[in-house]
Amino acid sequence: MSAPRATSLGGMIDAITQVPTPENEPVKAYVPGSDDRKALDAACEAIAGEKIVIPTFVNGLAVKGEKTSTVTMPHDHGHVLAEVHHANAGTVQSAIDGALKAAPAWQALSFDDRAGIFLRAAELLAGPWRMRINATCMHGQSKTAHQAEIDAACELIDFLRFNVHFARQLHQVQPKSAGTSWNQTDYRPLEGFVLAVTPFNFLAIAVNLPTAPALMGNVVLWKPAMTSMVGAWHMLELLREAGLPDGVIQLVPGDGPVQGEACLASEHLAGIHFTGSTGTFKTLWKGVGENLDRYRTFPRIVGETGGKDFIVAHPSADADQLATAIVRGGYEFQGQKCSAASRIYLPQSLFGAVRERVCAELAKVKVGDVRDPANFMSAVIDERAFEKITGYQALAKESAEVLYGGTADRSKGWFIDPTFVKVDDPKHRLMQEEIFGPVVTTYVYEDAAFEATLDLVDSTSPYALTGAIFSRDRQAVDLARTRLRQAAGNFYINDKPTGAVVGQQPFGGARGSGTNDKAGSAWNLLRWMSPRSIKENLVPPTDWRYPFLAQ
Ligand code: NAD
Repeated sequence: MSAPRATSLGGMIDAITQVPTPENEPVKAYVPGSDDRKALDAACEAIAGEKIVIPTFVNGLAVKGEKTSTVTMPHDHGHVLAEVHHANAGTVQSAIDGALKAAPAWQALSFDDRAGIFLRAAELLAGPWRMRINATCMHGQSKTAHQAEIDAACELIDFLRFNVHFARQLHQVQPKSAGTSWNQTDYRPLEGFVLAVTPFNFLAIAVNLPTAPALMGNVVLWKPAMTSMVGAWHMLELLREAGLPDGVIQLVPGDGPVQGEACLASEHLAGIHFTGSTGTFKTLWKGVGENLDRYRTFPRIVGETGGKDFIVAHPSADADQLATAIVRGGYEFQGQKCSAASRIYLPQSLFGAVRERVCAELAKVKVGDVRDPANFMSAVIDERAFEKITGYQALAKESAEVLYGGTADRSKGWFIDPTFVKVDDPKHRLMQEEIFGPVVTTYVYEDAAFEATLDLVDSTSPYALTGAIFSRDRQAVDLARTRLRQAAGNFYINDKPTGAVVGQQPFGGARGSGTNDKAGSAWNLLRWMSPRSIKENLVPPTDWRYPFLAQ
């Protein structure tokens, strides 16, 4: 039972305040035997030991649905973590109504008051809630301790802190005042509600999508991926603990098409904040088009979608650096990062050394339960993903050369071994399609064909999310950076194409990879504001005649 909430009088303090200067949250190491590791192990045991019931959460009240589904551990698919109640179309409508009702009080709070809630949430996550939230991510998403820490703790803390900082900077962008006029820009929230539809693979993204618009004064319906519901539910509890008022973020779990249809049909839809596959995003965008005549305002559509991320190596590159980038960039979190290295272009002169090193390192990679600190990889998210990825393994066996792996085991968890493949055809499906699993494909080019290979990189896949050039030759770096300007929204030089840090490498891509609004940046926050220009005339004229009319 929540405590009764006070209603603000809409007052605020008279001050131009400064928000705390954000720093990136330091990453904990979780060395076996350390106090942090022991605390994390205890949190994992607690999460594994409970089976929670997750309701729809509308207007501060838990609502049960007629339909339920279970969330299981991907690395132990017989182990149920939660039972989730789906919101039906009627519940979604109540959530929309409730959000619109909550909007005036939320918008009457000053920016500082709203920001204070999210800054407190960041501190709760950095401190007392850290292990619990990391443990939900380890068991719910099958992330190792390190992968959970950089996502559910550090990146999410960074989003919460940096968004406040960037929002405050935007507020300071004001027009000039000339003559007798005083001009101001009022950064209004959007009129209506924002629908946040979030993916399974990053809890940081799942929480950023509803909280970024909420910080700017919007009310939000949050539809997480069903496989991420355990982390989403615990994070909603954290946000409530931090003081988020009821109704501002309404949690509506369920099947995407049911939620999507109910929200898209509302005249009050003001925006969609989406991360997920390109296909789902297109469905939502088309749905907006079909409903366009209903809306009171043109909805803002922001979507970060799929990727087919590349590493291209110049003959001057270092084979050991390349191999390390392929192992980390391609296989961490089982290749289920939108930024995961998935197609590799190697010169003939380096192929032998890189192949040898990658295969030798993959032989040392252990795949298994996330609780065992020896494991570098764990399971893929669910049976559907397992079927899809093993389908690509089969395709590799039929039509390419499997250099390493190609095996999988579904008996206890959805485990797929790291798989390294070589194709002769640079336009092979394995070089074009997003696999979203631990299958990395390489194409070997003649050393003299580096420039032509850059054109191949640019034209082979419909995506343009991340990419990397490895080279010790500066001219080659410059050539790649220029020729691949539109091929990736995040471009790396001598580094793996994963691991973007909030405030350092704003993240997002164009073409089939999304609208490139860069989550965790001022550009993204701008999409959740509708600026109003206000002009006040300090000396209003009293004569309608202009001087040129004078006789
Ligand atoms: P998905 O598209 O299957 O699902 C994303 C969300 O959309 C889920 O909440 C799902 O329930 C919902 N959904 C599905 N159909 C819907 C519909 N018709 N209407 C409304 N909602 C619907 O994606 P996923 O498997 O959860 O995530 C993996 C994908 O996300 C990959 O393609 C990956 O590249 C992409 N991704 C991109 C980024 C980025 O920043 N570009 C980041 C993370 C993930």
